[in-house]
Order: sequence, then C-alpha cells, then structure tokens
Amino acid sequence: MKRTTTFGNKNNSKKKYIWISASVVVIIAAAIGVFYYFNQSNFNLQTVEPAPVEDVNEQNANQEDTTKIEEDNIKPTDEAKTPNTEDQQAETEQPITNNGYIEGQQLPTEPTFVEGVLLANKKYPLPSTFAPGESEEARKAFEQMATDAKVSGFDLVAFSTYRSFEYQDTLYNNYVSRDGQDNADRYSARPGYSEHQTGLAFDIGEKGEEDLWLTEEFGETEAGKWLVENAHKYGFILRYPQGKEAITGYMYESWHFRYLGVDVATKVKESGVTLEEYLGVE
Ligand SMILES: [Zn+2]
Repeated sequence: MKRTTTFGNKNNSKKKYIWISASVVVIIAAAIGVFYYFNQSNFNLQTVEPAPVEDVNEQNANQEDTTKIEEDNIKPTDEAKTPNTEDQQAETEQPITNNGYIEGQQLPTEPTFVEGVLLANKKYPLPSTFAPGESEEARKAFEQMATDAKVSGFDLVAFSTYRSFEYQDTLYNNYVSRDGQDNADRYSARPGYSEHQTGLAFDIGEKGEEDLWLTEEFGETEAGKWLVENAHKYGFILRYPQGKEAITGYMYESWHFRYLGVDVATKVKESGVTLEEYLGVE
C-alpha cells in the first residue's frame, strides 16, 4: 500500500506535471484558436466587405451615369429656361432673358399703355391685381363678328377670354408639370404676362369643330382664314402669327385674337406687322 502510495505519489506528481503541461498546451491552443478565430472573423469581414463596396461603387457609378443623363437632358434647354427660385440662385450670372422673359423681373404696380394700347407680353407684364374682367366692348365686337361669320357659314365661338391672374397661375403651373417649363413658355403665359388678363384677348374656334380648337390646323380652315382676313373690321387682330415667335414670344396661335378697336386693329392689319413691331416695343 505504502509503495503503491509512494508510487502513487510519484505518479501523482507526474500526472500533475502532465496535467499542467496539457493545460498549458490546451490554453495555448485555445489562445491560438481564439486568435485565429478572431483573425479569421476579421478576415471574413474584410473579404465580405468588398462585395458591398463594389455594389456601392456600382451604385455610385450608376448615380453618376444618371446624373450625367439628367444634366445632358437639362443642359441644352437650361440657358433658355427661366427658373424657379432654386435655379435663379444657380444662374445669377445670367440675368438676361429666358424664353423671352426678363430674368428676375417683378410684376409692375401699373399696367403699361403704349399709344393708348394696353400691352401684355413677356416684357410688359400686368400687375397681379389687374382684374378688369372681360371687356364689354370686345365682347360686343366679337358677337357682331360671330353674327356676320355665320352668314358666311362659320359658327364662331370664343372659348376662352378673360383669365384672372390666379387662374393663369394655376393654368401655367399645370402646363409646366405636364410639358416642362420650356415648352409651356412657348404656348402659355406666366401669370401676369397673359394677354387674357387684359380681358381683350379672345381664343376663337368653330362650334362643332372642338378638336381643332387650340390647333394650328384651325388656321387652315375656312373659318380660320376668314378670321385672319376680317377680324380687324371688328377690332381684332391675329395676335401671334406664324414665324413671329421671336418678336411676340409665342408660337403661332391661329386661335388667339386681340381686341384693339377697329382703328388700331385696321392699322396693324394693314401694316402687316405684329403689335410689338407696330408699337415699336420689340
Ligand atoms: Zn389665347
């Protein structure tokens, strides 16, 4: 027993030594394991990371591409565009004109009369408070013209006459949302700049030919031609003739007539020029 014990003791210290050694080895192994584990994790994280980085780069690249396309789309028209306040800030170094409008122009407090003619165009706006309603004189003249046109076989109708500042504001902004500002500026006036706010502009078409209202084709019809030839006798002129966009600021509008009174309308008609040229305010 003693021997055994001695042996056992000896054996025990040997065992203890082995245990300690084994423990140290295990601890070192574990430490190495943990070290590698974390290294591996880091490594994994690093290897995983490039993928999203690539994605991000790709996204950036895509974004750059998109931006470029947008810029390309905007650039050509940008110079000719009169901008909302955001764009105005970006384009302060270009204060000339935009789509015929004078950059940064404020609406006046009084309307402009030139030789007794009330002017409303892209350079001569009206006060926002100017609200005369439809001119009774112009309406009377139109009714006379419509009566006489009927004899010639045309049933004329004035489908848009007086428009308030507020109405024009809504109308113009709807057009801008639909077609963009550059396009809208060619056929619709900005609020304060519409001749319809004078109460003297009549958009004319033929009853039963509604599909030709607001179209160039109306000018090709007998009714359209009759109007161009005869409207001045009632005090109206075709206000935005073909090929005069640079002067009037508007594309050809076969339907838009302006009441000037018979005297002035006849003089303008006979001069063969636009109202702006006639008044010397181009
Ligand atoms: Zn009109």
